[in-house]
Amino acid sequence: MQTHSLQTLRDSFAPSDRMPLVFLGHGSPMNAIEDTAYVRAWADLGQSLPRPTAILVVSAHWMTKGTTLVDVSAMPRTIHDFYGFPEALYAEQYPARGQPDLAREVVTLLASHRAQEDDTWGLDHGAWAVLKFLYPDADVPVFQVSIDMGRGLEHQLEVGRTLSELRDRGVLILGSGNVVHNLRAMRPGGRPMDFALEFDGLFADRLADRDFAALADREALGALLPQAHPSVDHYLPALTIAGASDTRDALTFMTDSIDLGSVSMRSFVFHAI
Ligand code: ZN
Repeated sequence: MQTHSLQTLRDSFAPSDRMPLVFLGHGSPMNAIEDTAYVRAWADLGQSLPRPTAILVVSAHWMTKGTTLVDVSAMPRTIHDFYGFPEALYAEQYPARGQPDLAREVVTLLASHRAQEDDTWGLDHGAWAVLKFLYPDADVPVFQVSIDMGRGLEHQLEVGRTLSELRDRGVLILGSGNVVHNLRAMRPGGRPMDFALEFDGLFADRLADRDFAALADREALGALLPQAHPSVDHYLPALTIAGASDTRDALTFMTDSIDLGSVSMRSFVFHAI
């Protein structure tokens, strides 16, 4: 696995008030309780980032249809949204506060995206399983925004574009999914499958070229897209992050291996230069 130096990333953060954007490939829930190269990279990243005023998480695991929900709860609960895992994983808690005032502002900001308040969700494992390494003290307020599975890929780029102004207010926008995510093709210990390598490479190239339209073009992605993503839930958060970036941002890739044959652990950061 190739892991880019976070020291380089740390050194490259300009003394700018504009917050970086982060996408993390979260992979298996087991990362939450195992010592892996991924979680070490997430912990290093947490120490390298400017300290946020709040964190807005777009996780693959909060799917809605026809609406974008924003969690306005004061104390989001820790959701254990997985089955058949060791008891230790169900004992995990991430007791960060919510940020109801800001969350309500986000509902207004995303009004044209049919946003609505919600106080029933909390933090699913796409959020807390990475946040516990980024901010182990759970001392930064955090709230989630859902992904609307009823809209196209381009829609999620637009959501990112709309959210981007929050970067100037010290808000860290964090996308959590996987650049390739095909659970049916998953094989423990399996070599990376050809389609996984191909889609992961194509994604990285287009992202580096800032050709986000190509990443949201189902026709251009062709048969590769349903192979890499039988359902696009883990892909959409990557598009949110791409959409929130602009030409002033540099792009740094972090981990970029393929796990279990068909899950890309590629993570990336956009940061103002
Ligand atoms: Zn997941």
